[in-house]
Amino acid sequence: MEQTTTPDRAALELASVARDASTCTACGLSATRTQTVPGEGSPTAALVFVGEAPGAREDRTGRPFAGASGRLLDDLLASIGIRREQVFIVNTVKCRPPENRSPLRSEIAACAPLLTRQLQALQPRVIATLGRHALAVFAPSAKIAEVHGRPYAQTAGTQHGDAVLFPLYHPAAALHNGSLRPTLERDMAALRAYLSASTREGAGEATLREVDSVPTRPRSKRTGEAE
Ligand code: URA
Repeated sequence: MEQTTTPDRAALELASVARDASTCTACGLSATRTQTVPGEGSPTAALVFVGEAPGAREDRTGRPFAGASGRLLDDLLASIGIRREQVFIVNTVKCRPPENRSPLRSEIAACAPLLTRQLQALQPRVIATLGRHALAVFAPSAKIAEVHGRPYAQTAGTQHGDAVLFPLYHPAAALHNGSLRPTLERDMAALRAYLSASTREGAGEATLREVDSVPTRPRSKRTGEAE
């Protein structure tokens, strides 16, 4: 199958994933959902956030991070000069686990093909995981307390494309435990610094303006495909 790398093709594939999610019955969460929460954002985003699972408000609205965690995520993004529309936000599972419990490993596994398709369509430069469940999808043996706030690994050679994994604590963790908030703020600033530095190194042609607007992956001038 042809790579879905141009913005239009990425948008089409993301829409197709959302449609497929809406009729998915691969795990028991489909029986209790109000609607699926496929994710949203820019189809050309260089930065993708992977959260844990939709909660009650997400289940009602169909949008990721629509509640208190989302407000904190928006504030954290604003603190580093990024708007939600410039990134793409997904979850490890597209349906709400009942009673806001954590998603089961079997549910995350059942939903993994949809996440993989999203990441293959987006081809982000950086995947920022939010919390330990999202981290475990990409680095099952990593411990969030040890690896948060820095580029931890490269997903090259995996089904997730060629991105850098940047683990972060989940915003909900900072809401429950206020002492984690400064850590999350520092980690976000580190993410911003990493994005800026890697853009300068990785894409010689990138200008400061592009850095400020969270650039997409460099694209071939000839084909428009991501390089
Ligand atoms: N909302 C989401 O969409 N995901 C989370 O992980 C938490 C809240």
